[in-house]
Amino acid sequence: MAQRRYLLSEDAIPTRWYNVAADLSSMPPPPLHPGTGQPIGPDDLSPIFPMALIEQEVSGERWIPIPDPVREIYSMWRPTPLHRALGLERALGTTCRIFYKYEGVSPAGSHKPNTSVPQAYYNREEGVTRLATETGAGQWGSALAFACGLFGITCKVFMVRASFDSKPYRQSMIRTWGGEIVASPSPDTAAGRAILEATPDSTGSLGIAISEAVEDAATRDDTNYALGSVLNHVLLHQTVVGQEARAQLAMAGAEPDVVIGCVGGGSNFAGLAFPFLADKAAGSDIRIVAAEPAACPTLTRGHYGYDFGDTAGMTPLLAMHSLGHGFVPPAIHSGGLRYHGMAPLVSHLVHTGLVEARAYTQSECFAEAVRFARAEGIVPAPEPSHAIRAVVEEVARAEEEGVERTILFNLCGHGNFDMAAYDAYLSGTMTDIELPQEELDRAAAEMEGLPALG
Ligand SMILES: *Cc1c(COP(=O)(O)O)cnc(C)c1O
Repeated sequence: MAQRRYLLSEDAIPTRWYNVAADLSSMPPPPLHPGTGQPIGPDDLSPIFPMALIEQEVSGERWIPIPDPVREIYSMWRPTPLHRALGLERALGTTCRIFYKYEGVSPAGSHKPNTSVPQAYYNREEGVTRLATETGAGQWGSALAFACGLFGITCKVFMVRASFDSKPYRQSMIRTWGGEIVASPSPDTAAGRAILEATPDSTGSLGIAISEAVEDAATRDDTNYALGSVLNHVLLHQTVVGQEARAQLAMAGAEPDVVIGCVGGGSNFAGLAFPFLADKAAGSDIRIVAAEPAACPTLTRGHYGYDFGDTAGMTPLLAMHSLGHGFVPPAIHSGGLRYHGMAPLVSHLVHTGLVEARAYTQSECFAEAVRFARAEGIVPAPEPSHAIRAVVEEVARAEEEGVERTILFNLCGHGNFDMAAYDAYLSGTMTDIELPQEELDRAAAEMEGLPALG
């Protein structure tokens, strides 16, 4: 019988995070101050982030130790299993070997607690008693509420209105773990009130919710801000995923030819892929693929330049692929992938050719999610269905070329709270949105007045 699951013991939980910056031949351009246009320093970030995270954000050290209290909480669900997708391989009739790292076993059901726990920990260590954040689909909000609860910190979540209405059980989870939650745009902040005045029925966006959470943190002494993706320290914390996967593939006697992840802000993708990037930088011909929605095609159709991380223009300017900070993505079911920007590290890797990007429509992704659920049992979150779509494309390509490949992807969350999306797909009412070129041109125009890349 072929082995299906590769399990590590608790003492194999990584003791350090891997910082890809140490192994890159060139670094992404630095973040700039939104007012002065000059590179930001630690003092610019200290009103909203603890110093330990600011240090990680700019660190050039290859390995950063994971504090014992964080590792101990990781042991609630880590190490996560690596699965050989025997059922999917059979369903596809392929001789390619497919593996997936399953992050849906965490308490919040996704990879997000890998970073919410250390973020809550470092804030508590530096005396912060309250964290403000935004959430799209509710995954990050619930992961942060969970972590804050463990460390006795208050958690205030601004949840994008569209998901607040369509995913009530994510709200319940946030409250169950002790978090406070409000729909964004909200009347609680100046940024929210301005949007509500202009568009009272706004369905919100991650960019708007970030503006609200940053404002909340910047205007209160007891409160810091926490971000669930995009920034270097968030990607860093996720590298426990790829480190474990490497050890588990070694148990299976396998080496991946292709590594795949879905991208919203880039963190689950980076968490799996970065520990394999050192191999690529050292000359291995491993391919690394980022999969995104055609309705929010940041990497494949966005403009690479400086843009704000939020809608109101309060965050530092980041060098990234962007659809423009005013872009409100269509209301697709993959709420976690509806973000106008991208992690600067991931953008830089795409720009320099180390990472490939692909975009898929939601119905082609759900078709694969359903095939996967029937073959493997697990119902994927809508977001990683993009990764599964890319896996199937890679299998087809290998068959065409007459080669057997080993493919690894990140099944970064389960879809047990996303059944309304499956209903829409199964009842044939799911629609695909083609983003008109005018929208993208408008985005590029919006970024024109901002500082240009080097
Ligand atoms: C948040 C989330 C994403 C998107 O965020 P990344 O930082 O790109 O990983 C993808 N999948 C799931 C399940 C999420 O919760």
